[in-house]
Amino acid sequence: MNKTVDITIKEKYIKEYSEGYPLISLETIENIDSLDEEGFILDLYDNKKKFIAKAYYGRQNKGYGWTLTRKKEEKIDKEFFRVKIEQALKNRDSYIKDNETTAFRVFNGEGDGIGGLTIDYFGNTASSVVEGFYMITWYSLGIYRFKDKIVEALKSCVEYTGIYEKKRFDTKGQYLDDKGDFICGEEANKPIIVKENSIKFAVYLDDGPMVGVFLDQKNVRKTLRDKYSKGKTVLNTFSYTGAFSVAAALGGALKTTSVDLANRSRAKTKEQFEINGIDSAKQDIIVEDVFNYFKFAVKKAYKFDLVVLDPPSFARSKKHTFSVAKDYTKLLKEAITITNKNGIVVASTNAANVNMRKFREFIDKAFKQLNLRYEIKEVYTLPNDFKVNDKFKQGDYLKVVFIKRIG
Ligand code: SAH
Repeated sequence: MNKTVDITIKEKYIKEYSEGYPLISLETIENIDSLDEEGFILDLYDNKKKFIAKAYYGRQNKGYGWTLTRKKEEKIDKEFFRVKIEQALKNRDSYIKDNETTAFRVFNGEGDGIGGLTIDYFGNTASSVVEGFYMITWYSLGIYRFKDKIVEALKSCVEYTGIYEKKRFDTKGQYLDDKGDFICGEEANKPIIVKENSIKFAVYLDDGPMVGVFLDQKNVRKTLRDKYSKGKTVLNTFSYTGAFSVAAALGGALKTTSVDLANRSRAKTKEQFEINGIDSAKQDIIVEDVFNYFKFAVKKAYKFDLVVLDPPSFARSKKHTFSVAKDYTKLLKEAITITNKNGIVVASTNAANVNMRKFREFIDKAFKQLNLRYEIKEVYTLPNDFKVNDKFKQGDYLKVVFIKRIG
């Protein structure tokens, strides 16, 4: 049993929690010393001892835990988690029924009522009957302490071939790989092949912190393929496994160029092309620091019809440190400079500390400083399977803007 402690909420935050605000943080609680062990249940009260909500204690860089229910008597047991997962599955009905998409998020943290926990589904289409794998990600030791109940709850809701986990809670939400990521069922092939709007992706469920594809970009990849690629030259920077390049090539791009610093990106990108029937020898895959590549491209007077810019929130290479909050405008200017007139820049970030308004300011500033005009063509935030909590809009971290360079 997870022990329960009483927590007093500071006066000025009572209204927010009563209305369903989900995140517990240092500023909002009076008796911080009562937080003892992660995984404890927290009964939240106002200073007159009126019950507000039940939460759990779990340390993430975001905060100290998440509310679970506003019913005082509700037990946080397997049944509690089962009901939440069942509801989440109902909300993904359109994805479950879509045969051309076999990878999507089933449970998205506080958006589905339990912060610090996500569950992704990966259907392996390379076997005769689609094999179903689930990936649970624990974002704190606190939520991990409910593991047995949550895994049992998931098992009772779905048919599965295998269940995997990622632990992101050693320090600052980093990935912790103590003894592999497999939990139960059958182990998955390395790789399995999933589909997303008919695009195939090779996915490795037990090979480090990331599986090979970021599912939150599905709508962006589809639009890139369907509306912006035909006959175009495409540069994909911070390309990882080349998912945007594959989408562009399938959309009829003349040629794609993928640039990423990580050595492994070359083989991974080749693999993604090949499983989609694209000859990777006809595509450029470059292992290099993007900051150097931009300089090189300017020197060579390279220009592209479309440039994808999707850097990590923070990056450190031998020569540079980069943060989206401080340096995006500068990076965007470099991308715009090597984009053809009337070409498109796909500017993307998942930095939680930069909201859409600020991101649009970065874009405006970059074009103004270059004395160029632009037109916004498309704006994307998280797709529907990455459900956002109405009372916690910060949870919608994704910002993607398709911008046409005019002049
Ligand atoms: N756009 C990708 C995801 C990018 S993840 C997609 O949609 O799949 C961030 C990537 O940036 C990682 O693969 C990392 O290796 C790469 N990276 C980080 N710093 C870099 C740098 N200075 N130059 C090139 N790549 C970098």
